[in-house]
Amino acid sequence: MGLSLIAFDTDHIKQFVFGTSKLKEIRGASSLLDYLNRRTMLELASSEKYKAVCIYANGGAGQFYIESDKAEAFIRGLQAEYRKLTGGAASLSYAIHALPEGVNRANIEDTVLKAEFELLDWKLQENKQHPPSVLALPSLPFMRHCSSCGVEYACADEILEDVISSKSRDEEDEENNEEEANGVYCESCLRKRGQDRNVKRIISKILPEADISTSSEEFKRRVEGVVTTNEKKKGVGEALWMRVLPGLHNQDYKFDVNIERPADFNEFANFKGAKQYLALVYADANNMGQAFAKCKTIPEKRKLAQAVDEAILQALCVAINEHLQIERHLKPEEQLTEEARKHPIFPFDILLLGGDDMLIAVPASAALDVALSVTKKFHELMSNHTLSVGVVLAPIRYPFGLLLDMVESTLKFAKKAGSEARAQARTEGKEDKIDDSRINFMVVTGSNSNDFEAIYDETYYKRYKDYRKEKFYATLRPYKPEDLGLLLDMIRESDKKRLGRTKLHQLREAVLKMNLTSSVYGGLALLNHWRYEQRTYVAEQVYGFANRYRLRDPENPLHGYPRVVFPWFRDTSASDKDWDVYRTSLLDFVELYDFVTREAESSIDEN
Ligand SMILES: [Zn+2]
Repeated sequence: MGLSLIAFDTDHIKQFVFGTSKLKEIRGASSLLDYLNRRTMLELASSEKYKAVCIYANGGAGQFYIESDKAEAFIRGLQAEYRKLTGGAASLSYAIHALPEGVNRANIEDTVLKAEFELLDWKLQENKQHPPSVLALPSLPFMRHCSSCGVEYACADEILEDVISSKSRDEEDEENNEEEANGVYCESCLRKRGQDRNVKRIISKILPEADISTSSEEFKRRVEGVVTTNEKKKGVGEALWMRVLPGLHNQDYKFDVNIERPADFNEFANFKGAKQYLALVYADANNMGQAFAKCKTIPEKRKLAQAVDEAILQALCVAINEHLQIERHLKPEEQLTEEARKHPIFPFDILLLGGDDMLIAVPASAALDVALSVTKKFHELMSNHTLSVGVVLAPIRYPFGLLLDMVESTLKFAKKAGSEARAQARTEGKEDKIDDSRINFMVVTGSNSNDFEAIYDETYYKRYKDYRKEKFYATLRPYKPEDLGLLLDMIRESDKKRLGRTKLHQLREAVLKMNLTSSVYGGLALLNHWRYEQRTYVAEQVYGFANRYRLRDPENPLHGYPRVVFPWFRDTSASDKDWDVYRTSLLDFVELYDFVTREAESSIDEN
């Protein structure tokens, strides 16, 4: 019997994970998919019945090879597991491709399968266009809708007893405190909530083992041991924190035995920093489709998938260790919410992690540093591969669904700039040397659009072509990692200079005039109101970036030296010579100032 390749892909991951905006349900949903993907898929594959061999299984997708006559049964078995664990809310698309005769278990890993991989991908894309349709639900007048998603019909929570151990006394109390105490839920939402309780218990069993003196190997072994055989049989399990906690332990992250994840987004109010803001950080590896398309053999593909998956995890753990230490973020005891007084809280939460992307929630004050660390570490680990990041800083109570749209569009804008830079480098024959990592951010202030590009066109970009052809860019977004590092350093350094938030606000107003008349007049007048060292500092920060945008002409060293058009600098590297292009970093500086500096925390604001 010949062999077949099988490819799986989870349908509508985001619809399932972000179907409701409660943190617990998002996490539970994400954990369910991760568990199905990393554990259930592999266990079923390696069972005696199928003996399918894994190429990879992460990021919501998976590829295997198996005897052709067993392929259909394996797929049906896996689909049944997905239906069972998610209450029918998540499904898998798949594709099967029969390999040529002569390819067998003995030689498959040495065979070049490039054309076969391409066909498999193509078939999967075809099938994904037509995912299995959802069954029409009965519509009966006495059935109640789910209190959480409001879409499905509610059911009794006894149905979960096969999978989820019942709530503890504490959990009952906790739920009774919530507004949804009288809520009824559909099976899918119940399973998400139940899985979140499973994860909570698993974390609480792991943490006492996370002693600094425990070796990494020993800790990993203990982590694997926290889920009992009996629980495993019932399908209780977790694959996200069981990877993240050893990763953090490896970095010597300082745990607290009683620490818990934030119970909901409001818990982010317990972290220091300005304005009661939180941030979503969304990172996604660049050009992975292309990279996978270059793989010729199974071992190459397996190695790449594993490397990317591990690099994302490790980059996240490094960033958490550097910027999200518990004690650095928790407010003093008297300012904590009731929940946070009971036990410390991780100053972050992981909403999605695996394959080539991750989405986390962090305190706004640490978001850009986290984004920068993740970007740099990933590139360092993967040398030829990079990622881009979108960051959205928003009030804690801002509707999650809108934030998600915003962070997606913010990331998309970053990736677009990265791929343009890559295309440009390709035409110059420098593609191997380019770092196309980009970091973009957006501060939610009540603009009426959720789309970064629309906001960019409306607020940060202006062009005039009547009198002279001029373009103004009031932002340097999206940033290259080294430029963002420079900006963050400048903002931190400026904190000591006490620039005063009122003056910074006036500077913002001057920039937003977007011209070389009133904008420059306002900017220069403002400069003169600062003391000498403050003034020099602000001017230097603009021209520091100007230098990075200047083309050096060895024949004429003065060419392109920036004219004094503060708060702007002239970009002489711009490719379109018909236009005069002006840019400034100052608006970005002002927008991030309150989040990055500590000035906002103190009441001193000299004007
Ligand atoms: Zn529901």
